[in-house]
Amino acid sequence: MSKRTMIRVEKLNKSFGDLHVLKDIDFTVKESDVVCLIGASGSGKSTLLRCLNYLELKDSGTVILEDEEIKKETHDFNKVRQKVGMVFQHFHLFPHKTVIGNIIEAPIQVKGQNKEEALEEGRALLKKVGLEDKENVYPSKLSGGQKQRVAIARALAMKPDVMLFDEPTSALDPELVGEVLATMKELAKDGMTMVVVTHEMGFAKEVADWVVYLHDGKIVEVGHPDELFDHPKEKRTQEFLNSVL
Ligand code: ADP
Ligand code: MG
Repeated sequence: MSKRTMIRVEKLNKSFGDLHVLKDIDFTVKESDVVCLIGASGSGKSTLLRCLNYLELKDSGTVILEDEEIKKETHDFNKVRQKVGMVFQHFHLFPHKTVIGNIIEAPIQVKGQNKEEALEEGRALLKKVGLEDKENVYPSKLSGGQKQRVAIARALAMKPDVMLFDEPTSALDPELVGEVLATMKELAKDGMTMVVVTHEMGFAKEVADWVVYLHDGKIVEVGHPDELFDHPKEKRTQEFLNSVL
């Protein structure tokens, strides 16, 4: 049986004023795919991710989520956004809430889940990210790696169908990168559909089903990691890889 299409982007264009940031992007993500987006700073990776959960609105083209074209005329972006969890470089935890408070906030406030149920599910998620003993701790007492694992648990609490990660390990001390990547690997193994912007080429090689190389707002090359890393077809991809590997 062929896999369900989770995200389909066709001829997506996005500008900020005169700056044409995304140029005719075509992009498909199937159920339980792990897609790594790579490319130099400023190439449009974050903007592309943000278009996928409507934090940015496209200028033209289509964004289709689970077989439904999403348009601002017909859709409540807040509802649609719940299907697409996002994890940022700088965590964005609520500093005045405990770890479990961070996790249950949206399920209760946005989804109207009852508190007992939200707590039960939140604790299960904390266990999953290896932080069950940190339930009542405030974010300021956590390491960067622990904060990011809480951020992942918080996103998962909304039961998204797709998870987006924007350089989730770039703000971490090197010794803390591994624990976050391990959590993401677990998630991939569980079959979560994931789009990951990353500079961690080792992670991309090991976990990605396919890799997208973005340059100057265009997709230059898409390939399976073995192919793209070891035998890139495009000269630009080769040059980029030479600069980071
Ligand atoms: P990347 O994540 O690959 O580093 P971005 O998507 O953040 O790239 O940015 C692509 C380009 O768009 C950059 O030149 C950036 O300065 C610009 N840009 C991003 N967001 C905005 C914005 N809200 N307003 C104006 N320019 C922006
Ligand atoms: Mg970025």
